[in-house]
Amino acid sequence: MTNTIEITKAQTSKIHDVDFENLSFGKVFTDHMFVCDFKNGEWQQPEITPYAPITLDPSARVFHYGQAVFEGMKAFKDDENKVWLFRPEDNLLRINKSAERLAIPAFPQDVFMEGLKALVQLDEAWVKQGLGNSLYIRPFVIATEPAIAASPAVEYKFLIICSPAQSYYSGDVRVLIAEEFSRSANGGVGYAKAAGNYAAQFYPTNLANKEGFQQIIWTDADTHQYLEEAGTMNVFFRINDTLITAPTSERILDGITRKSILKIAEDSGISVEVRPVKVSELIEASKDGSLKEIFGSGTAAIVSPISAFSYKGEVFEIPHQEERFSAIFKEKLLNIQYNKSEDPYGWRVSI
Ligand SMILES: *Cc1c(COP(=O)(O)O)cnc(C)c1O
Repeated sequence: MTNTIEITKAQTSKIHDVDFENLSFGKVFTDHMFVCDFKNGEWQQPEITPYAPITLDPSARVFHYGQAVFEGMKAFKDDENKVWLFRPEDNLLRINKSAERLAIPAFPQDVFMEGLKALVQLDEAWVKQGLGNSLYIRPFVIATEPAIAASPAVEYKFLIICSPAQSYYSGDVRVLIAEEFSRSANGGVGYAKAAGNYAAQFYPTNLANKEGFQQIIWTDADTHQYLEEAGTMNVFFRINDTLITAPTSERILDGITRKSILKIAEDSGISVEVRPVKVSELIEASKDGSLKEIFGSGTAAIVSPISAFSYKGEVFEIPHQEERFSAIFKEKLLNIQYNKSEDPYGWRVSI
């Protein structure tokens, strides 16, 4: 396989049709996409082509057995019009970890980085300046082989598509603590960004929505006593001035935002505990007033503050904090992402 990416430019740009002031998340895509097929036991010529629908045989295995994994990452433009990625190698390492669990072949790191940078460079005009504006980048792999035998495919497609995004204010989120449904289980695929993990969350989340809760805090599948993730985000608790989050595991996804927040917290002198957190501990802390914050963390919103949780029919409100840890982490991360501060960690990657 050659590493030189073949580029076919779009004849015209769609950018002038886009209202960048009123974007709804993930509905508009840039002019180009990255595509690479896996065939005959190897990844083929990588290409950048005009963004367009793809044609798949109805028997393509992804439709039947859900062999699909994905990533979510962002590009940011600074005040000098330079575009930056945030910890992109971590996304490649993670998509390959997810791929391994779904019996999908790994994608080479150098081709990923080269393709990603070339694609973002080509669609650079779609990355708008200003805090909160970003380009959401979605790498994904699907099993394309036309065959419905229940075994891993021998043909795949790796794609990267990009969608301009504005900062989204989800508002404060009210959550339901799961007592019955589970997102993941021991020995399962919870740590992988497998497409099916998301499909499996929609139904319980719909039920929670009907009761007035936007998200579910997932608990461990065995006992439902330990708090694991909030929707599709990692979850943090602040009890007094200690920041607490569950350790990653085969059930808990290793979020890049999560580990960045942990690093920033430690370096800011905040006391951090990475350990299992019991529902009962949260309820006690809420009752005695020591529970100050709960927030989710993920690439899309960075942090998503939670204002109330419900457990066994009882609702616990979290009083608003003047100085939220979540706001501190968000600001520090944004400053690194938008090149407004030093980046002592080497997280920022120029395209
Ligand atoms: C993507 C994802 C996260 C967040 O990961 P980031 O790398 O921080 O975006 C957390 N939990 C689940 C289940 C996820 O799919």
